[in-house]
This record gives sequence, structure tokens and C-alpha cells, in this order.
Amino acid sequence: MKKKLILGIDVGGTSIKFGVVKDNRILSEISLPTFAYENPKRVLKQVETGIIQIFNKYSLNDFSGIGIGFPGVVDVENGIVTSAPNFANWKKVEVRKTLTKFGLPIFIDNDANCAALGELYFGRGRELTNFVMVTLGTGVGGGIIINRKLFRGESGGAGEIGHITIDYSGPLCKCGKKGCVEAYAGNSYIKQRTIHKLHEYPDSLILKLVEHDLEKIEPKVINDAALKGDQLAIKILRETGFYIGIGLANIANTLDIKHFIIGGGISNAGPILLNSIKNSIKEHGVKNIVKNVKVLSAQLKNKAGILGAASLVLSNLRMK
Ligand SMILES: [Zn+2]
Repeated sequence: MKKKLILGIDVGGTSIKFGVVKDNRILSEISLPTFAYENPKRVLKQVETGIIQIFNKYSLNDFSGIGIGFPGVVDVENGIVTSAPNFANWKKVEVRKTLTKFGLPIFIDNDANCAALGELYFGRGRELTNFVMVTLGTGVGGGIIINRKLFRGESGGAGEIGHITIDYSGPLCKCGKKGCVEAYAGNSYIKQRTIHKLHEYPDSLILKLVEHDLEKIEPKVINDAALKGDQLAIKILRETGFYIGIGLANIANTLDIKHFIIGGGISNAGPILLNSIKNSIKEHGVKNIVKNVKVLSAQLKNKAGILGAASLVLSNLRMK
């Protein structure tokens, strides 16, 4: 690729981040509000405004393409965002078509796939041939990398790790099924379990950190408390890791993949969660397959959105 710059756009529920990426660095970055609660037209207007602001500073001719990560279901081939649960009035929106006026190749994918590709090109996956990326947040998402390519499956839906059932009679998941990994490891479920257990730990640091306002319990608070040795927070992280590990053991058994990269909110606590995921994979997987399993933390952290979006351009242009 002769042109050295890539524009990576990370569309989030509250803000859209735009970053000019060169090699593995973000040269400059801007952020605009998404207005996701209004309508698709308004959101796309924000995307256009950001692109124009970037091209006021940089020459369009220096860019090889634009990559867009979107939190929804994406028809990658046609550049259409089919649905986006946290965006108002969103149904089959032609994102790429709206932006073709800029004259650059545009690639769109969902944020979990972007996270996997971002780690592949810029992060922990640079040296790996095969790995599975798990993103923890409101939902539990994933991306499967095989032979350094994203595996999309027959209809583009591969990597729905959050909806692997680990107990067919378990708690109800938002998807309508029972006992999904997400129903144990999604943010709101972790919060519920924490609140439920607080009466056993009345002196938990978690209560102090949220000033006794239970609504404020979120992954960061649990991480902070765990890092300070809070027993409830550590218990919650270990349990969460145990549940995630059962799901990942099933993937390991199926694909014989040895490396799992974990990113997103609650993974920032580090070894407590990662070790319990690893132990659980070893406990639940086929011995010969999982004996050397490695559970790694994602490397890109707060750059994951922009670099992940930018990696779409790399993966698509390299394939051609
Ligand atoms: Zn589910």
C-alpha cells in the first residue's frame, strides 16, 4: 500500500471517535457526540462532519481508506448496518453509500470483529496465527481469527461467544435463551450478582466506592475494589472468569485454538479474572487440547476502537 494513512472511525453509543492512523500509531484524534437517540440521518451527519474535519487537516490523497466500527449487525459486503440495538429508529441503514462521496474505499464491521482485527494487526495477536478475541461489556462479543484471517461463518454471524449456553436451565439472557455466557458475564448481570451478594459482605469496599448508591456499581468499581483486595470484588471476578471459561473451553474443544485474548471493561483488573478464565478452561476442556492454553489481556485498551476500525482497511486491502 503506497498511501500511508488510514482513517479509523469508532462509532459508540455516546461518542464517535475519529483517528488518523499511521503504522500502529494514532497521529491525531477527534471526538463528536453520536446523537444515537435521534435518528440514523443525524448519526451519519456526525460521521460526515468528523471526516470533513479530518480532511481539513490532512490531504485526502494520503489515505488508503476509511474503516468504521459499529455496535450493531453489519452487512459487511454491502456496507449496510442492518440493526443497532442502542440506536433509535435504526433499520437497514446504508452507511457506506452515504459516505462514498469522499472517494475512498470504506469498510464497515461490527465492533467485536474490529476488536479482533485490531489485536491481530496492532496488538497482542501480532505474533499469533490463531486466536479468539473476547470483548466484555454490556454484551459479551467475540471474533475468531484463523490463519490470521477473521472467520465470519456462512452468514457473517460467527463469534457470538456471549450466546454459548453454559447451562440450558440457567438464567434468562437478553437474547431470549437461557444460560448464555452473557447472562453471567455481561455488565448488568455482573452488577445484579454483586448487589445480590452485598448482604454477605456488608463491609465491602464496593459500597464505599459507590457511596452506597447501588446503581453506580460497574466493572470499573469492581476492578478498583478487587485490586485493593476486596473479598467480594475478587469473588465476583473469579466467578465471572469461571463462567466465561466454560464457554471458552467449548470453543477450545471445537477449534483447538490455544490463545484467547480478553478485552473490555472488566478485563482491566488483570490477573484475577484472566487466571480464573484459564483455570476454568483447563477444568472444562479436553485435557490434551487445553493443557497449554493461554489467556492474554488485550493490548489496545482505549485505542482499540480506532485501531480496530483502521485494521478493517488493512485486512480488506491486503486480501485484494
Ligand atoms: Zn444469549
